[in-house]
Amino acid sequence: MTVTLGQPLAPDAELFGTLAQGIWERARWSNGGPLVAELERGLEEAAGWRHVVATASGTSALTTALLALGLPRGGEVITSPLTFRATPLAIEAAGLTPVFVSSDPHTLTLDPSAVEQAIHARTVAILPVHLFGVATDTALDVLAEAHGLPVVYDAAHAYGFADIVGRGTATAYSLHATKLLHTGEGGFVATDDGQLDQRLRHAVNFGIDRDHDLHAGINGKMSELAAAVGLATFPRLSAEVAARESLRLAYATAAESSSRVRVHAPERRRALVMDVVRCDPQEQASIIRELAEHDVIARGFPALCGEGERYADRPVVGSTARDTDELSRSAIALPFHGRVQQRHIDSISEVFSS
Ligand SMILES: *Cc1c(COP(=O)(O)O)cnc(C)c1O
Repeated sequence: MTVTLGQPLAPDAELFGTLAQGIWERARWSNGGPLVAELERGLEEAAGWRHVVATASGTSALTTALLALGLPRGGEVITSPLTFRATPLAIEAAGLTPVFVSSDPHTLTLDPSAVEQAIHARTVAILPVHLFGVATDTALDVLAEAHGLPVVYDAAHAYGFADIVGRGTATAYSLHATKLLHTGEGGFVATDDGQLDQRLRHAVNFGIDRDHDLHAGINGKMSELAAAVGLATFPRLSAEVAARESLRLAYATAAESSSRVRVHAPERRRALVMDVVRCDPQEQASIIRELAEHDVIARGFPALCGEGERYADRPVVGSTARDTDELSRSAIALPFHGRVQQRHIDSISEVFSS
């Protein structure tokens, strides 16, 4: 049997049934229902943020955060070309322009010195991505503060990292089924700023502020049904986290004794959503093919500025599109969920040491 890259965590069906029953009884499906509020309180407690606003997706969490900041239309947002395409698409959906900047080859996250080089008069915000279980450099916060720029973090890969809490102006998470804790489709924006929390609540609901449509906004709200999925998944979370933590160790052991791959940023890595090993870019395709021959689905994530990609024509400040593309080919994402079994790990080790 093939082992897939991701495997959605199954919600507790009985708990989901009970919660869904309540929705039918109240006939309240969205707009300030009790389950969304309960999930938001649960996420604040679990993650340690003061304020959490649930959204329809991780992408709408990013767009909502940018809209709530009231940035001038057409402004430039500095971000990474090493991410999922949701990141720049969310910037564009907020009426802003993504500007790509090079990454640190060791951590694959935004390089602060290249960010500094890219800041100019039209820059309105920085949107770094905590990628593949590695938090971005805290020098970015210092830099943004020095330039008076807001920072919106993409934490789609960083659920559960205590030390990213409190950083930046706002942080967007994904609750998509392929991540960790999930609501099928969903996400949330977190902040410690009470005033921003209010603006986020307007932005996520068409920009409406007490029946006046004052602000920029979208319909990015989470539904009660989605919140019920999230609340029924919460009880399964700690066992899944434990399984992923031991898998992360097993992959490190396999990579350490391999001449073909190495552990990604060993001193910083603590993936819970997605995990990668690093390789020679020339070898990426053949390693992925060999893993597939062993029924293991692994994959790379091409740089968004690479050939044939949506942003292929965009420059990368501090590097070239070609070098960035090569950097993206130095990472292989491995199956990362509680259903991965010892025999899969053995197959992976075999390919790594062949
Ligand atoms: C999944 C993901 C998103 C988008 O999340 P959705 O909930 O699927 O909209 C954004 N950024 C990164 C890095 C992701 O992996």
